[in-house]
Amino acid sequence: MGKARAPRRTLEAYTIKGTNKTIKAGDCVLMRPSDSSKLPYVAKVEIIESDSRGTVKVRVRWYYRPEESIGGRRQFHGAKELFLSDHYDLQSADTIEGKCSVHSFKTYTKLDAVGTDDFFCRFEYNSSTGAFNPDRVAVYCKCEMPYNPDDLMIQCEGCTDWFHPPCIELTTEEAKKLDHFFCQSCSSQDQKKLQNSHAASRPSETKVHQLVEAMNKFDILFSFQHLLAVTQKLTCMSSCKRENIS
Ligand SMILES: [Zn+2]
Ligand SMILES: [Zn+2]
Repeated sequence: MGKARAPRRTLEAYTIKGTNKTIKAGDCVLMRPSDSSKLPYVAKVEIIESDSRGTVKVRVRWYYRPEESIGGRRQFHGAKELFLSDHYDLQSADTIEGKCSVHSFKTYTKLDAVGTDDFFCRFEYNSSTGAFNPDRVAVYCKCEMPYNPDDLMIQCEGCTDWFHPPCIELTTEEAKKLDHFFCQSCSSQDQKKLQNSHAASRPSETKVHQLVEAMNKFDILFSFQHLLAVTQKLTCMSSCKRENIS
């Protein structure tokens, strides 16, 4: 009898069409959207495989931009912020248009220069519930917002909290010129002792921003997860927007 059909073969590497750039499993890539006016999709390559006809496909895990998340873009989201989703797909390798780097938040804030292909990720994102992991982050300043690495902040030498210049009635230029900075509470001597003792006894975990408004409806989300049919429908709805890639 004839030979068995060649099974899918896992490839070590793939050279991006029209370039000399090679990608491997674990690399992050930019993928061409069907609508060319949109920004490219960002994905992490899990597996590269070739079928019996030699067609190369990549199994990817999508990164979502804040705009694509259920909660949308918030003030504290950085311009280059991405969320690592639980949404996987099999895509033609032809749609890969380039390589990119998705840094950890810490690494990103230490980059000397941020290139067009540099991104960062500090949250995992559940594409069916809109929930984030971690679902709480530290907040700073009088406005009690999580840190947006695109915004300049200055640190108070008293309480060590960080502040946005506009929140303390300073321009960015004025803030940059300061050699020393004490916030309003710390600059008043009487207040200083109070503030310091208060700060020392305050567990930092209490000053956090809860990311998911839907957490109030946690019971509903929780029971949804037990209704497999409903969950599948939700997953389908959220993945449909990416089905147009080809
Ligand atoms: Zn602020
Ligand atoms: Zn202070």
